[in-house]
Amino acid sequence: MKLQCYKADLHIHTVLSPCGDLEMSPINIVLKAKECGLDIIAIADHNTTRQVALTQELGRQYGLMVLAATEITTREEAHVLAYFENDRQMAEFQQFLDTHLPKIANDEDRFGYQLIVNADEEIVGEEPYLLINALDVDLDELYDVVHGLGGLFVPAHVNKPSTSLMSQLGFVPPDLRADALELSRHITKEAFLKKNAYLKRFAFFKSSDAHQIDAVGETYSELYMYGLSFAEFAKTLRGEDGRYIAGV
Ligand SMILES: [Zn+2]
Ligand SMILES: [Zn+2]
Repeated sequence: MKLQCYKADLHIHTVLSPCGDLEMSPINIVLKAKECGLDIIAIADHNTTRQVALTQELGRQYGLMVLAATEITTREEAHVLAYFENDRQMAEFQQFLDTHLPKIANDEDRFGYQLIVNADEEIVGEEPYLLINALDVDLDELYDVVHGLGGLFVPAHVNKPSTSLMSQLGFVPPDLRADALELSRHITKEAFLKKNAYLKRFAFFKSSDAHQIDAVGETYSELYMYGLSFAEFAKTLRGEDGRYIAGV
């Protein structure tokens, strides 16, 4: 077996995120990802997974791997990406989100729509509670829940001057438990590690964090793996058997 290079954009919002553009429907995202030559995407809406299943179904139709993900706001107001392997894990985590998201109604005029759409881009539902609020769960508790379900825990855009570990805690704790760290498009791994050499034990990847269709695939990472599966993705974050991530 030989390592293959897979282009991955592992952090994309849909129209379900209040800040996600109305054009960010699952079908538009899948078509745009194919156009960009991506092999893997992850749908990571704020504190919800409810637009993942449809995107995965469309991904199967169009030959695109779609990972189940979500971008959680922790009690510290830090964003963390969680990735899940199957529907059971995702459903259980959705229940956890529903339990821990504050029951504060979304103000659409202020924050934007939180719409669930079908394959034909018809509105079939919406999330009533504001999704960008913080859960009443801290980073450590969240790690245990995500790992307890078999998921992967990746602090998002750690270099960002807001809603990141750096901005909320002032630093990335050296003893942090995480499967990888995500960087935003504004920095390279090399530049980040120059200032934060103590974090070099971590795997890093870089994603678009797209909220608009043109941003999908604009930033991506190259995953060198032995095939396309969640297990391969997990092993790549661990650097097992020569698997690695480039282009970060
Ligand atoms: Zn974020
Ligand atoms: Zn995001």
